[in-house]
Amino acid sequence: MSKTYKIADGKIRCTLCPHGCLIGEGASGICRVRKNVNGTLSLPYYGVLSAQAMDPIEKKPLFHFYPGSRIFSVGFYGCNFRCPFCQNYHISQQVVEGAAMTDPARLVEAAACRDSIGIAYTYSEPVVHYEFVLDTAKLARRQGLKNVLVTNGYINPDPAADLLEYMDAANVDLKSFNPDFYRKEIKGSLDPVLAFIEQAAPLVSLEVTTLVIPGKNDSEAEIQAIADFLASLSPDIPYHLSCYYPTYKYAVEATPPDLVLRLAEVAREKLHYVYAGNVGTYETDTLCPECGVVLIKRRGYSIQITGLSEGTCSNCGATVPIVG
Ligand code: SF4
Repeated sequence: MSKTYKIADGKIRCTLCPHGCLIGEGASGICRVRKNVNGTLSLPYYGVLSAQAMDPIEKKPLFHFYPGSRIFSVGFYGCNFRCPFCQNYHISQQVVEGAAMTDPARLVEAAACRDSIGIAYTYSEPVVHYEFVLDTAKLARRQGLKNVLVTNGYINPDPAADLLEYMDAANVDLKSFNPDFYRKEIKGSLDPVLAFIEQAAPLVSLEVTTLVIPGKNDSEAEIQAIADFLASLSPDIPYHLSCYYPTYKYAVEATPPDLVLRLAEVAREKLHYVYAGNVGTYETDTLCPECGVVLIKRRGYSIQITGLSEGTCSNCGATVPIVG
């Protein structure tokens, strides 16, 4: 169990994420899944899954980690953010009682007997299920499976260090570079997410995603700031920009593909690998940053490795940071 502090009157302080919830007896934290039971922090939803499926690794999205492979993907309930545009709100913003339960050993076995490179913790926010994810990831690694975290990055540095030790790859959802957006729209804060990205960058195969929402986080200045930040860590970090569509509490119009394509061009001024998702063009191919040849051709989830040879561009010999 992640570290907690007992406070007077039976209350406890959860220190897993920057919310630092003070939780009274019988109550849950903001994430809805971590609960004070008799003065002890418990995870009553340990092993409760909302979804499981075999997915292309590109769906996470991870484009530079075992391209063309498939991964056994599992989701949970609950989240420590309150995004009004959440595309998975039916599992992130509620907990369904009586859902299917599993345990780490069964989950690892299920992944191992499929044609999967490992396990992806995804769909809703996995870090609030920290103990289950950590237990499963340790077991999966012992079996030679890869662990992939798809997260909002809202976790404190100490538990993050323990989790990242067992992760091989991560995609972090960087929702904006505007602290006000994080505070007002999401009910969180930006700085811890940036700190998590900095922490994860040298430890795992890291990719970052921003869902572009018209009028909310779509200025060139904001995408430029994100690209500057990522480039300061490494210009090789793959960056995904994707189109939003109206859902949950947002009625903002869907993102025009041209907007995402233009913002991708802005990000490419600083980053070597920028991908525009859901735009109906071929902006998801991986090109060599030195000579421009197509290294990996993507048509939906059909993947062809066309110009890579042992981690280098087969045309010009440039080193290409792709794992697997
Ligand atoms: S993990 Fe949940 S209970 Fe713990 S601080 Fe974050 S939101 Fe609160």
